[in-house]
Amino acid sequence: MTAAGAERRAAAGFRAVYGGAPDGIWAAPGRVNLIGEHTDYNEGLVLPLALEQRTLVAAAARRDGLLRLYSARLGGEVISLRVAELAPGAVKGWAAYPAGVCWALREAGVTAAAGGADVFVESEVPLGAGLSSSAALEVATALALGGSPLSGPELALLAQRAENEFVGVPCGVMDQMAAACCTAGHALLLDTRDLGMRQVPLELAGLRLLVVDTGVRHALADGAYAERRAGCAKAARALGVRALRDITPAQLPAALGALTPGLRPLVRHVVTENQRVAETAALLEAGEVREAGPLLTAGHHSLRDDFAVSCPELDLVVATAGAAGALGARMTGGGFGGSAVVLVAEARAAAVGRAVDEAFRNAGYGAPRVFTVGAGSGAGRVG
Ligand code: ADP
Ligand code: MG
Repeated sequence: MTAAGAERRAAAGFRAVYGGAPDGIWAAPGRVNLIGEHTDYNEGLVLPLALEQRTLVAAAARRDGLLRLYSARLGGEVISLRVAELAPGAVKGWAAYPAGVCWALREAGVTAAAGGADVFVESEVPLGAGLSSSAALEVATALALGGSPLSGPELALLAQRAENEFVGVPCGVMDQMAAACCTAGHALLLDTRDLGMRQVPLELAGLRLLVVDTGVRHALADGAYAERRAGCAKAARALGVRALRDITPAQLPAALGALTPGLRPLVRHVVTENQRVAETAALLEAGEVREAGPLLTAGHHSLRDDFAVSCPELDLVVATAGAAGALGARMTGGGFGGSAVVLVAEARAAAVGRAVDEAFRNAGYGAPRVFTVGAGSGAGRVG
């Protein structure tokens, strides 16, 4: 799938659906989070990279206040909404993501989208795989409809607001920041407290970064996410800090002693995970990417045992990849299915892929999708 191919398909698809040329085409990438899971809503650190797979939005402004939406991935009818009537809860299904962005732009006083638009969505990012197709869609739409040049963090905050308030998903800001602010060849070290960013070079010579989409989509993920999030907020209140990010590793033993048993594993995960992110970023900056492998695996064990958001399929990927010689592996994204990320020496990559395939077959699971990823670019205009 060539980059130019996706742009061509977006332009041709727009013409076929709306009968004219788009004003432009904008794109935003999916992301894989290298490490730093469930830390973003604790004002902690995350280290995502942009995928080369992107979501493209071809759009043309209208003057009659209609927002028309079509997704090549989902097909079906063109969805037609009135911009003036957009309100949280008013739009169901996938259309809530782009409509929410249109609403958030209006709320932010950006009037460019007030007249409406025709929007055609073309995506290379797997949906619901923990690779953040939702933020890619939001950020690409924000660029397409935003008109005036918004900064990366402005785009991300607007997109997050759309997902939180309009779609009703209480996500943190990592996915949108990754889509908006990542740069090619780098992971993004993001401090979610103040949106402080550092581009960390990701030197993968002799290495491969694999993503394994387990194909598993557990419905319980939403409720569990809200529950973990509430647990973290409760623990922060009990400890008298603004967010769990404020607990240092040195303070962890005392903090654990002060908490009820049910909250302890949540806090242990968040505090140790922040530390792992900082250590991983330092290794990447020192060019010692291989050494980060054990940190990834330790992160997985913490998510599995302390935060309890893994699932048997993700655990099987991590265990199998490790046994087949990977340097490290972990679930990525919120958990309960979705994808795992595997760091492996180039020479072992094929063997790891085969081992994971075979283990899934033996376990009676559906075939996983294994693909190599590189650090792609952040969002921008592409046509
Ligand atoms: P993830 O962000 O990990 O892919 P989410 O559940 O957060 O998973 O977001 C997936 C949802 O986002 C889809 O179910 C759909 O509603 C919407 N979405 C994402 N990409 C597209 C697309 N290309 N076309 C239509 N809807 C999309
Ligand atoms: Mg998402």
